Amino acid sequence: MTRFRPLQSQAYAPATRPRRLVAVLLMAAGALLALGVFLVDTFTPLQSAVAVVYVVVVLLVAASGSRRAIVGATVGCMVLTAVAYLRGHGMPAVDASMLRCAVSFGAIGVTGVLSLRNRERLITIAGQARLIELTHDSIFVRDMDDVIVLWNGGAEQLYGWTADEALGRRASDLLGTAFPGDHAEAEAALFDTGRWEGEVFQRHRDDRIVIVEARCALLRDEYGKPRVILEAGTDVTGRRAAAAALAESERRYRTMFENARFCFWEQDYSLVMDRLRALREQGVTDITAYLEAHPGFVAEAIALTQIVDVNQATVRMLGAQRREDLIGPLSRVLAPSQRTFGRVLTTIESGGVAEGETHLVNLDGERLTVLFALNMPLGPTRYDRVLVSVVDITDRKRAERALIAVQAELAQAARITALGEMSASIAHEVNQPLAAIVTHGEASLRWLRRADPDIGEACDAIERVVRDARRASEVVNRVRSLASKEPRQHVRFDLPGLIEECVQLLEGELVKHRIAFCMDIDRDTPAPRGDRVQLQQVVVNLMANAIRAMSDTGGLRRLVLRARADVADGLLVEVEDSGTGIPEHIAPHLFDAFVTTRGNGMGMGLAICRSTVESHGGRLWATNRPGGGATFHFTLPLALEEEAGV
Ligand code: ADP
Repeated sequence: MTRFRPLQSQAYAPATRPRRLVAVLLMAAGALLALGVFLVDTFTPLQSAVAVVYVVVVLLVAASGSRRAIVGATVGCMVLTAVAYLRGHGMPAVDASMLRCAVSFGAIGVTGVLSLRNRERLITIAGQARLIELTHDSIFVRDMDDVIVLWNGGAEQLYGWTADEALGRRASDLLGTAFPGDHAEAEAALFDTGRWEGEVFQRHRDDRIVIVEARCALLRDEYGKPRVILEAGTDVTGRRAAAAALAESERRYRTMFENARFCFWEQDYSLVMDRLRALREQGVTDITAYLEAHPGFVAEAIALTQIVDVNQATVRMLGAQRREDLIGPLSRVLAPSQRTFGRVLTTIESGGVAEGETHLVNLDGERLTVLFALNMPLGPTRYDRVLVSVVDITDRKRAERALIAVQAELAQAARITALGEMSASIAHEVNQPLAAIVTHGEASLRWLRRADPDIGEACDAIERVVRDARRASEVVNRVRSLASKEPRQHVRFDLPGLIEECVQLLEGELVKHRIAFCMDIDRDTPAPRGDRVQLQQVVVNLMANAIRAMSDTGGLRRLVLRARADVADGLLVEVEDSGTGIPEHIAPHLFDAFVTTRGNGMGMGLAICRSTVESHGGRLWATNRPGGGATFHFTLPLALEEEAGV
């Protein structure tokens, strides 16, 4: 068995100091031996016979690895042989000694040439060995008995065995190589074609299994007899583990995507993003403004956006049979939603997460309201697989609308109840002008029926009739407006005017309960926007509650209505009374429905007030005053948020 360690061909490796010393010693030994041979050859009767020993000199010097030294030694030995011959025999003559000299010449020359050729060959082998050593891949060579004869640094690294430990051992014992497929097939391919490549499982020194991408080559000698198998390997354990982890993560993602109860889509925005990029190159900087000014572009962008995958929940939501029914342009299922889509485009272009509410049309033509969120799972610049999660809120919206309708009905009922409670004062309010009308009417009749009718007086009386009739009509109108069921509208309105009307509606009650009323409204208070009738209802409710809370108390009864601009909340309105204050036991639930301390109360007034104020984007809360009485505060934002348009 030949053990071969590449770096052991030391003479042909780059010269180091110790190696140079060995070379010098070899040359010196060669020189001494040459001198000895010369002396024996020249001065002893052995003569030319010993000249053959010069061959040893050449071989010694050749071991130094120096080309020049080999040539020098060969030529030198030949010269010494010739000098010794001439000195011993004089002029050359064809005899036995001449023949011996020629043989010595030949032996020295052939040895020199062979040494030079051998040197070249060893240099080539050493170069290859260095290459093998330099490569990061593992390389080992095993002979036909499976015994390892070469083991490079890469193999040491990959398998953990040093060259000393590995050399001489059977590769199958050391590495326990397992082939994923049929071992015999791999072996057959190696012997047939001289090569085999594939992944094998091998054992590391610490007993863990490494996955190796192996490349085997069968090397034959000049007679075609298999000599050794060279096996180069790359450790792909980490790569395979990463690939397996990736595959596992992909499998989990697919399972989640498929089985989620929420709807997931994958959309391809690449074409749209190309268009946006082109716009930017044309110098468009404000994409939002551009999209608003070019609705056609947005429509085109919706058509260019492709649905590339959907999960089963989406198939069910959109009334499809199979996912393939939904793959294609987004425009097939997205109801025209210019503004929302424009917003989505600008958000994903800037790498953000877009979310909002929009409408879809399912395959049965039914319009759905959905909440959506767009994510970029493949990074902010990969637009070909944008993940969209969608939640169908159509039923919730329907329920919300039903709830709002019920609330409106309740509010209406509460208003009618309040009006019922105030009916005595309202009747009084209407009765007064009516009585006056009768009086003024009778007076005008009397002026006209006189023998000499006084037209002037009659006209004055009729004017008073008209004025009082108007007053009565205003009272009726106010009552009718409060009781009306008309759909409401958000408008900018005059707050002092609204409060004035509330006071007029409740004037009878204020007078009846001897309550002083005071209005404190900053002149700079900006005009709020909202549903005038609903907000009037809120103020009437709060004032009516205040009047009730004061009706049983003694002392000064005072109702104050304040309004001022508030930095944080827009507009702040306060209704303050000097009544009983809010009973402590109901304070935490004051605004819940059906919370009341009044025997005939419904406990709906404050609940309705709060939902009305909150639907305007404001807040309503109550505090007790230190000196007695309660204050109800509510805010109204001045610029109401635009309703989410589509
Ligand atoms: P209701 O008037 O039918 O009782 P509300 O929701 O208007 O229903 O009021 C709930 C309760 O809140 C009242 O019963 C009362 O106890 C308390 N409350 C409301 N306003 C005041 C106030 N200004 N002062 C003291 N308590 C009040």
